[in-house]
Amino acid sequence: MNMSDTASGSHLKPRILTGDTPTGPLHLGHWLGSVKRRVELQDTHDCFIIIANMHAFTTNAEQSDQIRANVIEIVRDYLAMGLDPKRSTIFVQSEVPAIAELTFLFAMLLPFNRVMRNPTLKDEIKVKDLGETYSFGFPLYAVGQTADILAFRPVSVPVGEDQVPHLELTREVARRFNQVYCNVSDQAEDDEHVDLGGIFHVPIADVGKVGRLVGIDGTNKMSKSLNNAIFISDTEKQVKKKVNKIYTGRQSPTEPGDPNNVLFEYADHFIEDADRVAELRDRYARGDDIGDGHIKAEIAEGINRLLEPMRERRRQYEESEDLVIDILKDGCARANAVAEVTLEMVKDATHLSLSPRSLSYT
Ligand code: ATP
Ligand code: MG
Repeated sequence: MNMSDTASGSHLKPRILTGDTPTGPLHLGHWLGSVKRRVELQDTHDCFIIIANMHAFTTNAEQSDQIRANVIEIVRDYLAMGLDPKRSTIFVQSEVPAIAELTFLFAMLLPFNRVMRNPTLKDEIKVKDLGETYSFGFPLYAVGQTADILAFRPVSVPVGEDQVPHLELTREVARRFNQVYCNVSDQAEDDEHVDLGGIFHVPIADVGKVGRLVGIDGTNKMSKSLNNAIFISDTEKQVKKKVNKIYTGRQSPTEPGDPNNVLFEYADHFIEDADRVAELRDRYARGDDIGDGHIKAEIAEGINRLLEPMRERRRQYEESEDLVIDILKDGCARANAVAEVTLEMVKDATHLSLSPRSLSYT
């Protein structure tokens, strides 16, 4: 058909788009909620991974140097976790101008109140204590995310649970666009849109097995911004220290405990031997001389076993930034090749174009 689908040399595979905001390094929630899934999909799908650096400005505009440093660290985390830049296209949002242009257009297709009703936005305003002073760009990022995604016309988006409301917004934009500009009937099923002439798939949220990993505070979602995260780049010692901070309120090893607590959520995820977890759970519930400290030690050991090969892989990318920058440049070129075609299709459908433009990214 056109350049778009050959840009990464794998046009026969269904395309996915997902990514992260560079507000800090990646943590275990990212691994379980999204990145693990991305690594699995690399062989069967054409994977586009966006680092949403403009969106980091919504809450951190004064720290642009830190945002840049976070971008580099996140790429290192990706590589550590097993994303392969040959098979996955890793790129930064700010270097793909079509995304900004689509954001402007999609903002016209969404009622303002619909954007503000988004429960994830409301939650972020509360949890990050943004009060009434958040920037205009803050709610706009929810609209921007629809453009991040649709610029790549993906079939699905691997995300954690908190992102599902955002994706719902994206699905609404895709349907609306296809109906208004591509003559797709409003009776069409979501999976028929492209066959019926729509530009966009109505993308599906592909929520990982662990949609929401709780933070070490035991309450909030593990989050880069909430100081409750165990990072992929943490040392063995840091992991032990953080796991030790988990508080259950239990007083002694002989006090029967409620095993539906944060400790056992972690035990389920990070202690590989399920029989061992069942045994610990049973003894904990009975208060059979098993202290929180003991369980924490086994959890920390399990997490360190998971992270050790990642630390090993990460080391080779830590010495210089150049390798990381090269990966991003290559990714940006591939991302622009696809996004420019989407923009051209959108401009044709909306009668905005005079003639095709060319954009080269080197
Ligand atoms: P921030 O605090 O800046 O919002 P974050 O830690 O929430 O950062 P994001 O960049 O917003 O991370 O999210 C990137 C992806 O990781 C999303 O798909 C999100 O759903 C997923 N994710 C983030 N935290 C978790 C978590 N604790 N459990 C499961 N998935 C998560
Ligand atoms: Mg978030």
